Amino acid sequence: MMVTIRCLQCGERFLLKGRVKKGKIETGFKRCLCDNENDFDIRNETLYS
Ligand SMILES: [Zn+2]
Repeated sequence: MMVTIRCLQCGERFLLKGRVKKGKIETGFKRCLCDNENDFDIRNETLYS
């Protein structure tokens, strides 16, 4: 599935491949270009089938 991660500090967006593990989205994404590591809006862009 594809996941959109938006940084809530600088507004940068990242489109990554992710997967759900124990109900939590995992992407391997570590931090934004602005050094923000925690403040993100994470969305699943792919519908489950
Ligand atoms: Zn940022």
